Amino acid sequence: MSERLCVIALGGNLGPVPQTFRRALEALSRAGFRIRRVSSFRVTKAVDCEPGAPDFLNAAVSGWWSGEALALLALCQRIEAENGRPRSHAYHVSRTLDLDLILFGDESIRTQRLFVPHPRAAERDFVMDPLREIEPDLVERVAGGRPPAPSASERRLS
Ligand code: ADP
Ligand code: MG
Repeated sequence: MSERLCVIALGGNLGPVPQTFRRALEALSRAGFRIRRVSSFRVTKAVDCEPGAPDFLNAAVSGWWSGEALALLALCQRIEAENGRPRSHAYHVSRTLDLDLILFGDESIRTQRLFVPHPRAAERDFVMDPLREIEPDLVERVAGGRPPAPSASERRLS
């Protein structure tokens, strides 16, 4: 199977997150994800989380993967579990590690287990900012060709 350029978003707000990110990147690499670029690790405010949730750290990694998309998702979920994330996990709560598959080559995948390009990525600065840092040419693909939201001044004019 041919290699595809993929992007994975990393997030976490519990435990030693920089160390967790480094371990996750090593585990991805060991499993055959050929890392191309890693963004800086950015502190962001918790969004859609329980009240008082600690700040998050977010990052993105791009790399080549030659297997199936579901195998890459399964790898991400195994790495989450190995880094202290419980198997069953409520939505929108603090977590040690979240690995979301943002792009899988230029494929569109729309199944219940996997939706790529990730449907909520485009509206999340904590995903788009690291993506823009490492792969500016792929931003458009995640945004789905949608124009950026109008700025406040533009909204006032309309
Ligand atoms: P979230 O990332 O939204 O906080 P989870 O990490 O708990 O939520 O993921 C919930 C489910 O989302 C997973 O079981 C997975 O099968 C599904 N999913 C669908 N598309 C994707 C994707 N692109 N990347 C990661 N998980 C995805
Ligand atoms: Mg996730």
